[in-house]
Amino acid sequence: MLDLSPVATDALGRALTGALLLARLLEKNLKNQAVTLRFEGDGPLGVVIAEGNIGGGARGYVSNRVPDAPMLDVGRAIGRGILSVVRGTPPHGRLYTSQIALEGGGVAKELTRYLATSEQIASAVLLGVLNRREGVAAAGGIIIQAFPHAGEASIAAIEKRITEAPPLSTLIEKMPIEAVVAQLLHGIDYKQIDERFNVPLSYTCPCTRSRALAPLQLFSPEELQDMISQGGSEVTCEFCGRKYSFTREDLLALTATGEA
Ligand SMILES: [Zn+2]
Repeated sequence: MLDLSPVATDALGRALTGALLLARLLEKNLKNQAVTLRFEGDGPLGVVIAEGNIGGGARGYVSNRVPDAPMLDVGRAIGRGILSVVRGTPPHGRLYTSQIALEGGGVAKELTRYLATSEQIASAVLLGVLNRREGVAAAGGIIIQAFPHAGEASIAAIEKRITEAPPLSTLIEKMPIEAVVAQLLHGIDYKQIDERFNVPLSYTCPCTRSRALAPLQLFSPEELQDMISQGGSEVTCEFCGRKYSFTREDLLALTATGEA
């Protein structure tokens, strides 16, 4: 759909999983909690955007889908820069934005740091994408949040398990995510988030024809006249690839409202 290179797929798959998990984790009885992660690093992928909501819908975007250096790991492919985390309750709720520095350690590490510094949540974030030549075979993620009263010994025990465990991408291929959690945290006191919050996940883009038209209003009358003389314009949604074509008449209507 988005024609991503393997490293872009890895990065976006992890970022989408992270956005979905954060939407659930940061939910404070807000039924529409949505989270947007915006990675603006100096790596070859350029800007990576992932949106997820508590209903299980997600969409994403990578500005440089096929970078020249295809073998880079995700951390270096995103690079150093700024991670913005925007949370809110669309369509009307206020938006809250926090920013942290991207340190080039990969999506899971950056999100762990975001949770610790901006949300004061001590956690471990694990994300995995299993890429096969024919496409993504599996993607998933786990956030382990320490109880407020958790002792240093139990946190250290969990950290040890996580560092010694095989990569998440290979585990999620073999077993459901609940089984991965059970294996990772075997013998450790833990509580899984209420199963009533299980939701089906889907790649959904809320783009519409009128939203696709909106950015064209930012063009100057001269630029719009250019498009009109060329017989119209086509806008491709960067999140889902859907194409919207606008006729001369559509654009003429736009110049008319611009003057009003
Ligand atoms: Zn779209």
